Amino acid sequence: IAAGGVAGAIVVIRTANTPFSTSDVAALELLAPVTGTALRAAATHRSAVTAADIDGLTNVHNRRRLDHDLAQLEAGSTAGFAMIDVDHFKRFNDTHGHVAGDVALQIVASTIVSNVRDEDVVYRYGGEEFSVLMEACEPAEALNVLERVRAAVSTTPVPGANGDPQFVTISIGVATGGDEDPSNLPRSADKALYTAKSQGRDRVVPIS
Ligand code: GH3
Ligand code: MG
Ligand code: MG
Repeated sequence: IAAGGVAGAIVVIRTANTPFSTSDVAALELLAPVTGTALRAAATHRSAVTAADIDGLTNVHNRRRLDHDLAQLEAGSTAGFAMIDVDHFKRFNDTHGHVAGDVALQIVASTIVSNVRDEDVVYRYGGEEFSVLMEACEPAEALNVLERVRAAVSTTPVPGANGDPQFVTISIGVATGGDEDPSNLPRSADKALYTAKSQGRDRVVPIS
């Protein structure tokens, strides 16, 4: 028992055909609380480490985790990387308020998550911007998946100020790995995103 709850159980099996002695039991009674406290501390640490990588509003991974994951990528790996930006989101906030804006961001995030591949990782890059890291993904497949994401967001209603259904769109810039230094992926994807915005938004644009 640790901190008033059950932290775990220690199972001790005696192979000899004699019962446990009272000193065996006394030793276990000393060991149990020490082990319980250690188990509890390890569990607390594990959940703190997980929470430190998750964005509090949208529940996707955060920027800190993105920087870590990009640093782990091997140079030359065929990774796809997308920068996603919600279109005219300032206008959405101005029209429907920031609380509705927050809900819209949560719905956009979960729509992205449900439309990428299981192995892809979604991050909140910051503000109304998200990223997707697609490891071992050929360029054509990355574009396919991201087009599905774009279409899904544009057809998923989000509640407006009065709870009435509204629609938001996203623009997506996509960089693909290959020979490139993985740390350049965000910058390349950002350039493509800029093109997507200037071409009229609500579209997926690969690096040229
Ligand atoms: P564009 O299509 O060019 O991206 O236009 P935009 O209005 O989306 O871009 P801009 O950068 O002007 O505005 C981004 C808006 O996103 C403004 C900011 O208040 C809003 N935003 C950023 N983070 C949050 C958030 O956590 N919650 C809410 N409600 N709004 C946010
Ligand atoms: Mg933005
Ligand atoms: Mg925007």
